[in-house]
Amino acid sequence: MNEHTKRLNLLDLPAGQWRDAAAAAGLEPYRGDQLATWVFRQGVFDFAAMTNLPAPMRDRMSQLFVVQPPTIEQRFVSADHSRRYLLRIASDELVEAVYMPNDSRATLCISSQVGCRFACTFCQTGRLKLQRSLSPGEIVGQVLRMLADVDTPPTRTNVVFMGQGEPLDNVAAVITAVTSLQDDRGPAWSWRRITVSTVGLVPEIRELMALGARRPRLAISLNATTDAVRSEIMPINRKYPIEELLSVLRDIVWRRREKVTFEYVLLQGINDSPGDARRLGRLVRGLPAKVNLIPWNPIATMDYQRPSPEAIERFRREALRTGIDVLVRYSRGADIGAACGQLQAANSVGGQPSTTDC
Ligand code: SAH
Repeated sequence: MNEHTKRLNLLDLPAGQWRDAAAAAGLEPYRGDQLATWVFRQGVFDFAAMTNLPAPMRDRMSQLFVVQPPTIEQRFVSADHSRRYLLRIASDELVEAVYMPNDSRATLCISSQVGCRFACTFCQTGRLKLQRSLSPGEIVGQVLRMLADVDTPPTRTNVVFMGQGEPLDNVAAVITAVTSLQDDRGPAWSWRRITVSTVGLVPEIRELMALGARRPRLAISLNATTDAVRSEIMPINRKYPIEELLSVLRDIVWRRREKVTFEYVLLQGINDSPGDARRLGRLVRGLPAKVNLIPWNPIATMDYQRPSPEAIERFRREALRTGIDVLVRYSRGADIGAACGQLQAANSVGGQPSTTDC
């Protein structure tokens, strides 16, 4: 088992603050930048391997700090080459992340919490209840660990906060993580490469948007077109109904070529009628929106059904006719329990993760 200590995990600080951490330890600030280069550019987490730092300094650093991304407990590789990682974040806690290669590029789907408190009725993670929120280092660390694990690093990496948990229920840590990924001393990724997906927590959407030019992209799990249905399948809708959610989006000044993504999980007989498709068009019209239709990924012991291919196609066409930008997105990694809504590893040490959900 790996060692988890009380030393400061530098990954919990945005990359831009490593200079200050170095200074506070009595080192020259630029040593913090050197450290960040090793960690974020070279994928080296062990001070002993940082050969351009004098040995006594490496010793001093390792007394004060750790650079500790989660460790790999298990890796499941799909027939479609996506990988689900079961990552250990503490001696008895596990979380999941998914690596999805696409030619030379990759999309990394990361978790912001262990479990989730929002209890959407169609989602496996929602059944776990919230175990705990992740620290910024545990969030950024998922990205670093997966990138360090692949043979050929992707030429371009996108990160989506669509794993376990509700990112905006852990908004401070998510903001630190997003800031770190964008920092010039860190990976220096543009906001265009980072997407935060939410059930629609209105005040926290405002907080995230207040990051201004560096705010990440936003995705909203809409999943229904009436409050009656949405409240039924997403209880948070009782607190923030559809109109309130859309109205906060209408107040946002969108950047050039920016779109807000709406995720819409298709559930047979629940939200897949032609009337829903037309209402969906009416709801998102006027926003720079793109809609991703996600055919529901079956979860054992849930009564929902995925609509037939014909019904999915009919819905797509009907929605398209309203003039909106809409695509059907089949999840990857369904054979390894990595598809949207399937992530379920709780803090169950020794528990076998299921690989046969679908
Ligand atoms: N809590 C955030 C982040 C999780 S994203 C959010 O809800 O946006 C996970 C996405 O998968 C959400 O859009 C959710 O609606 C969708 N999802 C959940 N269960 C699913 C399932 N069984 N099949 C397909 N999509 C699902």
